[in-house]
Parts: sequence; structure tokens; C-alpha cells
Amino acid sequence: MFPSSRAAALAKLERFIPVAEDYARDRNHVIPGHPSVSRLSPAIRHRLITEEEVVSAVVRVHAFSRVEKFIQEVYWRRYCKSWLSLRPEVWSDFLRDLDAIGENPAVRRIEESQTGNRVIDHFANELVTTGYLHNHARMWFAAWWVHEARLPWQSGAAFFFRHLLDGDPASNTLSWRWVAGLQTPGKTYLARRGNLEKYLAPELRDSLSDGLAAFENPQALELQTCAKPHVTRKEFPPDSLSPSMVTGLWIHEEDLAVETSPLGQQTFAAIVVTVDAESWNRHQFPSTKRQ
Ligand SMILES: Cc1cc2nc3c(=O)[nH]c(=O)nc-3n(C[C@H](O)[C@H](O)[C@H](O)COP(=O)(O)OP(=O)(O)OC[C@H]3O[C@@H](n4cnc5c(N)ncnc54)[C@H](O)[C@@H]3O)c2cc1C
Repeated sequence: MFPSSRAAALAKLERFIPVAEDYARDRNHVIPGHPSVSRLSPAIRHRLITEEEVVSAVVRVHAFSRVEKFIQEVYWRRYCKSWLSLRPEVWSDFLRDLDAIGENPAVRRIEESQTGNRVIDHFANELVTTGYLHNHARMWFAAWWVHEARLPWQSGAAFFFRHLLDGDPASNTLSWRWVAGLQTPGKTYLARRGNLEKYLAPELRDSLSDGLAAFENPQALELQTCAKPHVTRKEFPPDSLSPSMVTGLWIHEEDLAVETSPLGQQTFAAIVVTVDAESWNRHQFPSTKRQ
């Protein structure tokens, strides 16, 4: 379902281009197979393809006004990445909180789709078996987790990060913070029954109807807003690659699109590809995500 090479990601982008013009109208509908959204996030997250390539591909074919909504969503990713890179302590605080929270049997039950709520068990199963959830399902799930089940948002973010093929420290952490009312202080996201009924495909709405009562009358959990995170700027030295030097290239999982960078023209004596194995182990990434 998700491309794992640059060629496959570019081919998937080509197939999405005709769909893009109806994105604004259809994107919120949660339909099995997710035909109305691009499903490019794992490829974009690891920069198998870049945001620029994705945006250029749709504006080449469609009027800007037809694809503006899609472009805005791609830019939300850039916003999240930039915001977190300027405030890295938000990520380290999240990891520290996770250690303090520890294991919770309720999280294990959710992961095994054993909550007894059909909506939640359905989406937990989809996440664990496919590594993907539609954006609206992510919002409903996170809202249920924080405001209905009253579990720590950090455990929910860790559960998503472990299984999502697009699991990203920035987009994931900021989205969970937003649902919990921390990212935009005091503004929480609540999932309401009417919204699920409107956007679930009819076959899902019928088969999951038993679980909708949990979304009947959501009450926001008021978390104490913490201090505004500091902005930290790092200065990097200017590029200094001399053609006469024997150089090596280190590729890491945050950016696999070497071809599209200035380094694409350079010849290297050696290339090393690494992953953040410590993080993979810490978050217990399943084998589907490691491949
Ligand atoms: C609780 C929660 C957790 C999330 N965790 C992640 C995550 O770990 N990684 C991740 O990439 N996205 C995350 N998102 C954002 C969004 O749900 C996914 O990017 C989107 O569903 C991916 O599917 P798609 O490629 O079909 O998206 P499309 O709708 O086709 O959008 C195109 C691209 O735009 C970007 N994008 C779209 N919506 C958002 C958004 N709201 N925020 C940031 N970028 C966006 C993605 O790169 C996506 O591939 C999360 C959202 C929520 C509510």
C-alpha cells in the first residue's frame, strides 16, 4: 500500500494527480482504502520524495485554486518540522515524560484492539496491521484517548509513533499536543458523534455504530498549560566540500532524497546509511516498519 523506493513513490504521486482536484471536497471522508487522500506520507516523511516535488506535480496540472487545500496540508508538515527544530526540548520532554509514565495495561489493551469499543478497536487494528490511519481517524482516536479514556497524551503519541509508517517526531507530537490543548493553549480538539456519522463511510458507520455512544457528549480534559517552549537556534558552518578531498556521505532516515540536494552531484569514496536504532528499539518498532 505504501511505496518504499523513490521510483515507487514518484509513481504513486503520478497516480494521485487526477485525484488532487477533488481533495478539498473529499479528503475528510474516511473510506476503506483511503482513495481521496494521497497516502504519500511515509515517502514524504523520510524524504524519498520532497514536499516541493509533491506540490509542483499538482500545480503543474491543476489551477492553484483547485489544489490549494492539498498544498496547505503539505505545508502543515513543514510548519511542524520547523516549529520542533526550533524547540527541540519539546521532544526531549516528551521522552522524559514517557519514562516517568511507564507501562499501562490500558495501552496494551488498545494495541490489541480489546477495548470493547468498536470504533477504537477498528482503528487500532488498522493502525497496527497497516501502519496507516486516515487524518480524521487519527483526530478521533487521539481525542478519545485524551478526553474520553483520559490516558496520557504522551502514551498515545508513543503508540502512534511506534506503528505509523509516517511516524514523525514533529507532525505526531505536535498533533497530539494540539488535541490535548497544549499546542494552541486552551484549544482542545473534541471528537463528536455527529462528525463521525458524517464522515465515516456508510459501511463503517453501520458496522461500528455500537461504538459511537462514546462520542456522544465529549468533555474536554483541561491540562495545565506548561510554559511556552524556548526557541533555540543552531548555527551551522557554511558548506565546505572541496573536490580534492576524499569524502564520505552519511545518509540517515530523516532525509533519503540525496539525489535532489546539491550533494547529488558529488562523488563519494564511501556511503553509509544508518537508522536511529536506539529510537527504533525504545519505541519497539514492529518488523513491518523496520523493513
Ligand atoms: C494525532 C495525529 C497524529 C499524526 N501523526 C503524524 C505523523 O506521525 N506523521 C505525519 O506525517 N503526519 C501525521 N499526522 C498528520 C496527518 O494525519 C498525516 O500526515 C496524513 O493523514 C497522512 O496521510 P496522506 O499522506 O494520505 O495525507 P494527504 O491528505 O494526502 O496530505 C499530503 C501530505 O501532507 C502532509 N500532511 C497532511 N496533513 C497534515 C497534518 N495535519 N499535519 C502535518 N502534515 C500533514 C503529509 O506529509 C501528507 O503526506 C497526524 C495527525 C494527527 C491528528
